[in-house]
Amino acid sequence: MNILVINAGSSSLKYQLLNPETGALLAKGLCERIGIDGKFTYKPQVEGKQVLDAVDVAMPTHSEAIQAVLNALVDKDNGVIGSMQEIDAVGHRVLHGGMAFTESCIIDDACIEAIKECIPLGPLHNPANLMGIEACQKVMPKTPQVAVFDTAFHMTMPEKAYTYAIPYEYYEKDKVRRYGFHGTSHRYVSARAAAVMGRDPKGLKLISCHLGNGSSLAAIVDGKCVDTTMGLGPLAGVPMGTRAGDIDATIMEYLMDKYGYSIKEMLTILNKKSGVLGISGVSSDFRDLENAAKEGNQRAELALEAFQYSVKKLVGAYAAAMGGVDAIVFTAGVGENDAATRMAVASGLEFMGVKMDAEANNVRGKETVISSADSKVKVLLIPTDEELMIAMDTAEIVGK
Ligand code: ADP
Repeated sequence: MNILVINAGSSSLKYQLLNPETGALLAKGLCERIGIDGKFTYKPQVEGKQVLDAVDVAMPTHSEAIQAVLNALVDKDNGVIGSMQEIDAVGHRVLHGGMAFTESCIIDDACIEAIKECIPLGPLHNPANLMGIEACQKVMPKTPQVAVFDTAFHMTMPEKAYTYAIPYEYYEKDKVRRYGFHGTSHRYVSARAAAVMGRDPKGLKLISCHLGNGSSLAAIVDGKCVDTTMGLGPLAGVPMGTRAGDIDATIMEYLMDKYGYSIKEMLTILNKKSGVLGISGVSSDFRDLENAAKEGNQRAELALEAFQYSVKKLVGAYAAAMGGVDAIVFTAGVGENDAATRMAVASGLEFMGVKMDAEANNVRGKETVISSADSKVKVLLIPTDEELMIAMDTAEIVGK
């Protein structure tokens, strides 16, 4: 079985063709500058096939982009499948499923309507995700399609965790509540963590730390999310590469009054100029920050410390929320690659039974236990694979 996984942005589209049963990746790539000058990248994972790197392909809309993907996949010299019929289904990453979607679903008219209704909650992403869906419907009308939502995994949160302490009518009338994101990643790594521990997810209390350019934590009991750090949108929680994370809302009024910023300018500052970039003034990339810190840049050091402190604090909060924790899981760009950050987050938590193994922690991007053998709380590194999770969901739903 082959599933085409699509992650559509407004002017770009990432794709992977994979087999969810074996986990084998056949090809992946990227369409960029859709609606501008169209750049197409194709990376077949089969030996002897030629890579295309940002070659010019006219892509006035997402439909031509999808067509370019299909052409490459079935190309007689460098393709990885014989025909389009070998694509059993398409799985789409969709950012915001609002309260309508507690799990992935087959894309039909009702599903599209519901995704449209969530546009006010995900104004940047949902319209782009819909463009990807509509392009696939046009170019491959007979292939079933499935939507997999970033928010769905978090819909099991109890009311006390998702309710904001603002007038209740904003929840009732306007659906203002905590939704959370990175759900596909948290779901994947928490299931893998249970497997690596040889345990059933039932009976396990996990804290999943997805630390990348965007970062979020999730508290997971019995395989179900009970709390997460992102909120109505992905600006909340820990500081990120360029996003502020949680701040006192008073700051907005103070700066907007003082500098005459519009709300749009203020949000650009909080989304694009804040986080570890904002604190350090150096970079949003943790590799740059670590290098700068080594050379004595104190603000780079402070940015790293503020980030690590914030993650640690939430690990403590979630342990309290769950009444204990069996394992802490690190994933995504920083979580998978940055041993120093993992160590900084986990050290000092000995009082709650966390004991790291410095040698085991000195790894990158490998599924492994990084706590010591006698650590009461296991600490794991689990590389995330959102595309595989989307493909697995898609296969399951289409198979029903
Ligand atoms: P996104 O949220 O965009 O999917 P990723 O999960 O790919 O991001 O994470 C990207 C980030 O991972 C980079 O910005 C960088 O900070 C971090 N990163 C990648 N490799 C390393 C490394 N070797 N050491 C430290 N940080 C790294």
